[in-house]
Amino acid sequence: MDQREVSENRNILITGGAGFLGSHLAELLASRGNHVFCLDNLQTGRRENLTNLEANTRLTFVRHDIIDGIPDALPAFSEIYNLACPASPVHYQADAVSTALVNSTGVWNVLRRAERDGARVFQASTSEVYGDPHVHPQREDYWGNVNPIGPRSCYDEGKRFAETLCTDFARERGLTLRMARIFNTYGPRMRCDDGRVVSNFIVQALLGQPLTLYGDGTQTRSFCYADDLIRGIDRLMQSPTAEGPVNLGNPIEFSMEELARLVLDITGSGSRIIRLPLPTDDPRRRRPDIGKASRLLDWQPQTALRDGLVKTIEYFRGELGRHPAASIN
Ligand code: NAD
Ligand code: UDP
Repeated sequence: MDQREVSENRNILITGGAGFLGSHLAELLASRGNHVFCLDNLQTGRRENLTNLEANTRLTFVRHDIIDGIPDALPAFSEIYNLACPASPVHYQADAVSTALVNSTGVWNVLRRAERDGARVFQASTSEVYGDPHVHPQREDYWGNVNPIGPRSCYDEGKRFAETLCTDFARERGLTLRMARIFNTYGPRMRCDDGRVVSNFIVQALLGQPLTLYGDGTQTRSFCYADDLIRGIDRLMQSPTAEGPVNLGNPIEFSMEELARLVLDITGSGSRIIRLPLPTDDPRRRRPDIGKASRLLDWQPQTALRDGLVKTIEYFRGELGRHPAASIN
């Protein structure tokens, strides 16, 4: 695999850096001696995701909204990772207009700043650009099946537009762009009230509450452990050749009923499973073809779902111990 030399002592910007994935990425980049700036409006992120890092490394937290631009006072960056955007359906639908704007105006602000600084850009795209897919598994050359005006559109179409804007900007203005289509990723630092299925099932199981299975439970997702994903983002950003979107995710597919039973098995919880209506436009199935990532980046996930869940459950036990009133609502 051909990779750029991993440099140290750079100024790096992570938008959404106080979030679940952003804080893991900050940890990796800071561990190499870079000065990492985490810019975040704390819509879904948490300061506490960064407190240990701030104490030990050159890490600067900046509370700011990328829809309002990137502050001029910050130094020039050599790399910008754009992760700012709520990722859980519950949170991105709570303020849909803001979600559409972070993926349009926000991305535009990031790109203009990158052009000014001569920075390489990483754009966090998503498997949601495939919508409810007619092609399975999903390869990067599949164009997707997305409702442009449904409850998920602010995110799905927002991320599709972000891909368009990034690609055209890079093509017209010579910017170096790397873009990952991230499939469902889970792990420590997710919030108890994140609202996505892995955190919901684990918190419900640990609290002895019923697990809320939406629909008939046969819909599928492919779950990637955070450490694997962050390694993939890093390889992608350092690749001199990986043009266009690259799927990053675990290609092993599970139904939501299987996931519920696995969580009950690992936690030893006596919770029962209750069925609730399937949300509108909920994709039936989702599995990445990771041939491109494997070929260009020599990347594959290494963590089996059971092993990743064991670590994530340990983390949530700690969270519920520290915040006994925590719940998914
Ligand atoms: P997250 O909600 O924990 O992180 C998003 C971060 O962005 C939060 O810290 C939030 O406060 C911040 N943010 C939101 N709007 C902002 C704004 N306008 N200005 C500044 N900061 C803002 O979610 P995550 O799972 O860490 O996702 C990170 C990125 O990865 C997102 O762009 C998401 O779309 C993408 N992604 C994640 C997954 C996944 O499964 N985790 C899958 C596909 C794509
Ligand atoms: N889901 C569920 N129970 C929950 C939360 C989600 O059964 O408490 C289902 C949801 O309907 C979907 C799948 O789990 O089919 C994944 O949902 P999530 O919100 O985690 O992510 P996304 O739909 O964006 O892939």
